[in-house]
Amino acid sequence: MSDSIVLATRNAHKLQELDRILKNAGVDVELLTVDHFPGAPEVDETEDSFEGNALLKARALATFTGIPAIADDSGLCVDALNGSPGILSARWSGASENVDVENMNLVLAQTADTPEGERGAQFVCAAAYVNPDGTEIVVRGTVEGQLLTAPRGTNGFGYDPIFVPNGFDITTAEMTSEQKDSMSHRSQALAKLVAQITQ
Ligand code: IMP
Repeated sequence: MSDSIVLATRNAHKLQELDRILKNAGVDVELLTVDHFPGAPEVDETEDSFEGNALLKARALATFTGIPAIADDSGLCVDALNGSPGILSARWSGASENVDVENMNLVLAQTADTPEGERGAQFVCAAAYVNPDGTEIVVRGTVEGQLLTAPRGTNGFGYDPIFVPNGFDITTAEMTSEQKDSMSHRSQALAKLVAQITQ
């Protein structure tokens, strides 16, 4: 096991989440982010799957830094929209300002006629680990749920206010971050990834 791993993010929340999962797994490793590597490449997500994009980002970072890299790619897949917005989740509305709200409003408009019982959706996250020695691992975490017809809650980000995970009666925007982290697609994917890395 390498002494350090670099995570393809500048997001402090993602860093803390992976750090907690590594500690819970008893893994003693220094966790770095792209901020530790000036000039690290910004990788365009050009693949047609979450797994492909996560691998693309992890490969680029492992090559640049020379140490093992972890990257993730996530999004919302809506049954009534044949799995869209999917990998396009972050840029679904094309908006440049207030993009989270615009994306959410577009999905609400696109599913306005979708009846109760057909409003299934999933949050999906692929997480990839690439070691410069050639080892590559990619896994997926999924949370099944239902789309509301109007937003509820102010926590979280993105599509959280319109997504109620199955088995809950609150949206992921009505959960505390601890509650969401304990069941999210991202934490499931990262936990699976850490389990495989440490095998
Ligand atoms: P990324 O993987 O960080 O690029 O996220 C892709 C996009 O998917 C985000 O910009 C959100 O629109 C959406 N998304 C991913 N995970 C979540 C989540 O946990 N809650 C709400 N939206 C999410």
